[in-house]
Amino acid sequence: MLIIDCPWCGPRQETEFGYGGQAHVAYPEDPYALDDAAWAEYLFYRDNPKGVHAERWVHSVGCRRWFNALRDTHTYDVLAVYRMGEPRPDVASPHTPQDSELVQSTVVPGTPESPAPGSTTSGTGNHP
Ligand SMILES: [Zn+2]
Repeated sequence: MLIIDCPWCGPRQETEFGYGGQAHVAYPEDPYALDDAAWAEYLFYRDNPKGVHAERWVHSVGCRRWFNALRDTHTYDVLAVYRMGEPRPDVASPHTPQDSELVQSTVVPGTPESPAPGSTTSGTGNHP
């Protein structure tokens, strides 16, 4: 059972909460300027990280207030909660660097047909 720390009520079981999707998805400043692809990006595409994810939650059977949480999608640990309008806390996933190392270590040993020396494989799949 996940324990979520409501910013107003304190720690409660996850069954008291509802998930509201990714946090910090801002409405377009000029919606009339968007083409169909940009609208689709805004409406349907969300981050899907393995690691820290900013999410909206509502304490639906408690205070009924919305808040944001930083949850590690790898471990399900809720790393921080903060009220709407407050800045996102700077929390790093303790697992992301290990995962990046794992990706690199699985790529590098398989080198019979690897790129020429000096070339690098860039990107670990991490978002900025
Ligand atoms: Zn609450």
